[in-house]
Amino acid sequence: MKFNTKVIHAGVSPDPSTGAVMTPIYQTSTYAQESPGKHKGYEYARTQNPTRSVLEKNLAALENGQRAFCFGSGLAAMDTIMRLLNPGDEVILSNDLYGGSYRQMVKIHARYGLVSHFVDMTDPKNVAERINDQTKLIWIETPTNPMLNVVDIQAISELATNKELLVCVDNTFASPYLQTPLDLGADLVLHSATKYLGGHSDVVLGAVIVKDAAIAEQMGFLQNAVGAIPGPQDCFLVLRGIKTLHVRVDRACKNAKKVAKFLKGHPKVANVYYPGFKDHPHHEVAKKQMRAFGAMVSFDLQKDTFEDAIRVLSATEVFTLAESLGGVESLIGHPASMTHASIPREERLKVGLTDSLIRLSIGIEDVDDLIEDLERALVEL
Ligand SMILES: *Cc1c(COP(=O)(O)O)cnc(C)c1O
Repeated sequence: MKFNTKVIHAGVSPDPSTGAVMTPIYQTSTYAQESPGKHKGYEYARTQNPTRSVLEKNLAALENGQRAFCFGSGLAAMDTIMRLLNPGDEVILSNDLYGGSYRQMVKIHARYGLVSHFVDMTDPKNVAERINDQTKLIWIETPTNPMLNVVDIQAISELATNKELLVCVDNTFASPYLQTPLDLGADLVLHSATKYLGGHSDVVLGAVIVKDAAIAEQMGFLQNAVGAIPGPQDCFLVLRGIKTLHVRVDRACKNAKKVAKFLKGHPKVANVYYPGFKDHPHHEVAKKQMRAFGAMVSFDLQKDTFEDAIRVLSATEVFTLAESLGGVESLIGHPASMTHASIPREERLKVGLTDSLIRLSIGIEDVDDLIEDLERALVEL
């Protein structure tokens, strides 16, 4: 089955009890048993819920995985993955990681003995140098947030071959429509389905998709034993969102390309970060592993001040000033004062995250309105 058919049909079939074409929301905590232990495969809803099962089958198909597991949020999914590890194990992670993932590693997992190394993964050599016998997990995020660096998933996965070493890719920014990391050698994929998979900014949910049956077994055990599962209503919303994933992401990518081009030619703009540009340092890697270049665009201003960035952010009318990304509506954000405020200024500047850096999540509105909105906001400077 091709991807555009899978989003709509994989794992989904009419409800056996009524013929309902759309997967029902099974809002129940428990299931009747005929006699003790004799049941229809469902005992208790932390362990099994039919709405969740359909979403998990669908996600496994989209990422070409063996099985998928859903969680209450992307970070709950990450937390459960970390429970595959033991105290003393080492993890190598991207150095410009999603802020919440970074916080989880340094504030929580460090207390339980996991050792984190944050490296610039745009050069696989930096990863190779860090691998030792204690290394048990490599955590890739690509494209990265908000600098839109691209990491070569295949090159890094090859470093883990023939070692007892898992590779997990946070595929939130690309979505499985643009990139399928398991096909490139990764063992696990993580999604914040809150973003492109849900796609309508109306639900928080996380997912892990697993390539190997033995790891799937462990993840299934942990999902039930730890219990950070999503409710059936949220599973339903993500299932509904996924049905239009390909159409939404297609349009958003096209819009993003035009917005990036507009910004690049603007006299008030200094740098535009977008992997679709031929002169982007990782354009070739992006071309190799992604179907299109995504719908996130970051840029900074000629006059690099907080004040000027805030003036732009406050002047847009179509772009909404908000955290998050991946919805049908375009969002605008200021990483230095919002998502990345906790990172010291010198650290930020080292990776190019300047005071005036602005991040856009491009939606599926008419692109002329998006460009006009930015044009008007930049005139305010
Ligand atoms: C939002 C996000 C997460 C965390 O997901 P939640 O659903 O908010 O818990 C993880 N990784 C990336 C790249 C994200 O954008």
